[in-house]
Amino acid sequence: MQHQVLVVEDEPDLANVIGAYLRGEGFTVDTVGNGPDAVATARRWHPDLIVLDIMLPGFDGIEVCRQVRTFSDCYIIMLTARDDEVDKVIGLSVGADDYLAKPFSPRELTARIRAMLRRPRGLQVATPARIFKGLRLDPDARKAWLDDAELDITRTEFDLLDALTAYPKRAFTRRQLIDAVWGPDWYGDEHIVDVHIGHLRKKLVDEASDPTYIRTVRGVGYGMAS
Ligand code: CA
Repeated sequence: MQHQVLVVEDEPDLANVIGAYLRGEGFTVDTVGNGPDAVATARRWHPDLIVLDIMLPGFDGIEVCRQVRTFSDCYIIMLTARDDEVDKVIGLSVGADDYLAKPFSPRELTARIRAMLRRPRGLQVATPARIFKGLRLDPDARKAWLDDAELDITRTEFDLLDALTAYPKRAFTRRQLIDAVWGPDWYGDEHIVDVHIGHLRKKLVDEASDPTYIRTVRGVGYGMAS
């Protein structure tokens, strides 16, 4: 099955290079150059993944991400041109899964995309639901419930919960969580883990100081609360 990738980039040369490279790697690619077209195409075409530039005509990639998240849980990789954009992407609850700083090579981008699309989705054998206190995870549907109410979480947040609850007594380093969720080839600011954990805690109504679900393991990283 060919994965569909939507490339949102307003610099035509860069959009063409990315598009041609990804097609050569076997992806089905569509390219748009502004915010409104990005949202409309995502709604109509249901891409598996969106490569999303931040500075765009119309409205910016942050706003595209917010709007797409209201109807889709597809993977979103944001392209950042400046350091303050990196802060924006990982600091805001926009729901992006990953980011890549410009300039990057098409090979780097492809590696990131493959790492995400490799994450398990709809396995053949039914996996039993995983229960931790009031939290229930369905790994096949990649859905989670808190006290029987379905949680509105992104794929990345689900994958983090999945990794943590698979070994609930273990303390994970940020790097181990990155390996499990973003893939061993990912490199960048490991702070991205803290940001996604922060989002998860909000959704789980969990207190970092007195956690029911996710505990901070000082000097290590994160684990499930006992
Ligand atoms: Ca741009």
